[in-house]
Amino acid sequence: MAVLILGSIALDTVKTPVEEHADLLGGSASYAALGASFFSPVKLVGIVGDDFPASEFEFWKSRGIEAEGVQRVKGKTFRWSGEYAWDMNTRETRSVALNVFEHFRPALPQSYRETDFVLLANIAPALQAHVLDQMKRPRFVVADTMDLWIETTRADLDALLQRVDLLILNDSEARELTKETSLIKAGRKIRKSGPKYVAIKKGEHGALLFGEDEFFSCGAYPLEDIHDPTGAGDTFAGGLAGYLASRKTDPTFADLRRATIYGSVLASFNVEAFSLERLRTLTMDEIAERYQMFKAMSAFEEISV
Ligand code: AMP
Repeated sequence: MAVLILGSIALDTVKTPVEEHADLLGGSASYAALGASFFSPVKLVGIVGDDFPASEFEFWKSRGIEAEGVQRVKGKTFRWSGEYAWDMNTRETRSVALNVFEHFRPALPQSYRETDFVLLANIAPALQAHVLDQMKRPRFVVADTMDLWIETTRADLDALLQRVDLLILNDSEARELTKETSLIKAGRKIRKSGPKYVAIKKGEHGALLFGEDEFFSCGAYPLEDIHDPTGAGDTFAGGLAGYLASRKTDPTFADLRRATIYGSVLASFNVEAFSLERLRTLTMDEIAERYQMFKAMSAFEEISV
């Protein structure tokens, strides 16, 4: 079963304490789509300018990522630049140029509208809602967000939460959204505001998953070499949503636990190289091997919270 993915498609410049690379393929939808493509066909929605490499469309095709919903318009592609501190976790945005993104109004091709699984990757909540408005009756909607939308478009985000089955966000965003210091309280509070499920990412420390009366703590893979953490969250969301879509039926909490592990596996590979380079060569065998390691490291008992 396919998963529809909406988000940003970008050209990124990324600086770490040891390396800097310019004009790399990035954006929340690029990472999420490639992550999901390991498990399910993808219908991609986004916008690029005429400076965007045509070879990427060929690559998407080779990965089962349909790009009929990607608008290619005159102008420059969205550009983002960030710099990481020595901990490879703290990041400062150096510049953002919206370019063609400024007037982006996603229009879904007819063939996209009946897709059952949807991932609204990080992008303005009003655009996420606009895509949902065009869909027939999606069975399961996953959304990602970021601090910017919590701070600048809170009403739009609150409205979107009513229409989302699973919200994914990181620990600092969960605290900011709920004004809670405890992530457990934050997860529960977000569930009460709309989403049936909540996944809170804790960077290199794993992820927490909240259901109605179920809870799962997913450990983190002990990576030695992190080259570029950019897009880890988006890859997590893509792997998770792609796995859920591959199950075909309405997700159970057991499916969501496995999806959280697959998302974590994909994210752990993504940070091993700049941009999407590691994901481009990744194989299902490598994913399966690391999944088993995660499984061995994670607690699988369900507990009530
Ligand atoms: P992450 O590391 O998961 O926060 O995602 C980083 C990616 O998000 C980069 O590839 C950026 O191009 C993209 N990005 C940065 N700012 C935004 C924004 N305001 N809206 C959508 N995508 C963004």
